[in-house]
Amino acid sequence: MIRKQPIYLDYHATTPLDPEVLAAMLPYLKDDFGNAASQQHIFGLKAQAAVKKARKDIAQCLGSEESEIIFTSGATESNNLAILGLAQRFEGKHFITTAVEHKSVLDPHKFLTSRGFKVTILPVDSCGKVSVAELKKAITPDTVLISVIAANNEIGTLNPIAEIGEIARQAKITFHVDGAQAIGKVPIDVEKMKIDLLSFTAHKFYGPKGCGGLYVRKRPHAVKLNPLFYGGGHEAGLRSGTLNVPAIVGMAKAMQKAESRRVEEAKRLIELRDRLYQGICSGLDEAYLNGHPTDRLPGNLNLSLVGVRSSAFIMAMPEIAVSSGSACSSANPEPSHVLKALGLSPERTESAIRFGLGRFTTEAEIDYTIERVVEVVKKLREKS
Ligand SMILES: *Cc1c(COP(=O)(O)O)cnc(C)c1O
Repeated sequence: MIRKQPIYLDYHATTPLDPEVLAAMLPYLKDDFGNAASQQHIFGLKAQAAVKKARKDIAQCLGSEESEIIFTSGATESNNLAILGLAQRFEGKHFITTAVEHKSVLDPHKFLTSRGFKVTILPVDSCGKVSVAELKKAITPDTVLISVIAANNEIGTLNPIAEIGEIARQAKITFHVDGAQAIGKVPIDVEKMKIDLLSFTAHKFYGPKGCGGLYVRKRPHAVKLNPLFYGGGHEAGLRSGTLNVPAIVGMAKAMQKAESRRVEEAKRLIELRDRLYQGICSGLDEAYLNGHPTDRLPGNLNLSLVGVRSSAFIMAMPEIAVSSGSACSSANPEPSHVLKALGLSPERTESAIRFGLGRFTTEAEIDYTIERVVEVVKKLREKS
């Protein structure tokens, strides 16, 4: 039985645009096309009002103030702005991050190392969690930034953000969180968690691609960043460039919707995800869970199907869109830095598959996936 419609189980890579989000965006792609910086006519004023409302709605979702939200092109830009924007004010100082960050956090740190900054990359435990004790040990009087991923994009593991926020606040160190996978899926509140800088991106929560933001704390202490590029001085001088009004409107709508359904959606996804896990495990032996058994994203299941290379598995099951645990391209078969950081054996890193479930995933899709995964893995194991 081959399905006509392919099944999408790669919601960590990106999510489809929610139809309600598209509807909210359309007027700003058509008649209300003004530049939000044009304050002298009705076209600009309408765009400006839409951006103001979006900023307010997003601030409310995150527990922040309107003026603390900076719009960017996505989480890659937000992470770079947070890390490099701060580094420009602290020549040669000490930065702390973790081994399981997204490349858009790790690579700016690598760049800083090459420019004479000191960087500590914290190890994680076998479930992918950063240790608070290790973090405390790494802090020096020169430390100016701690940057930690809230929810990992490969294995879904959640980090103790509130606990780290408390430590950073007491040590008077700026705390940056990559919240790209966490927003709309697990609770994130910049006040409760004492976050100073928070990166997010619309396309991970059913908004449009190419639009994101950075929360930058103003109160009770202000985090000062340098901009990465210069121009019209938009976004309080931190991010010059004409605002993408339709995408910003869409991002706000998407965040509100994700946030308002977060609890019930998490419950639904955990049930589906556990169904998938149990289904695969009852049909196959040597299927191992990567990441934390409970402290993980509701829609994440990362499994090593030992004996089957992830690339062969993915090719054998073209009607189901999943991803290998590694962020590698077929040209670069390096195992993922995240799986390596867990200390997994080569057999397990080579056979890791990431299933990402989301808003439009159905029980029927999960049942079909279980059947196919069991079938395909058995066949591939026989061959080898
Ligand atoms: C997707 C993702 C990013 C990059 O976001 P873009 O908006 O695609 O640049 C950064 N960090 C994490 C954890 C992600 O999942």
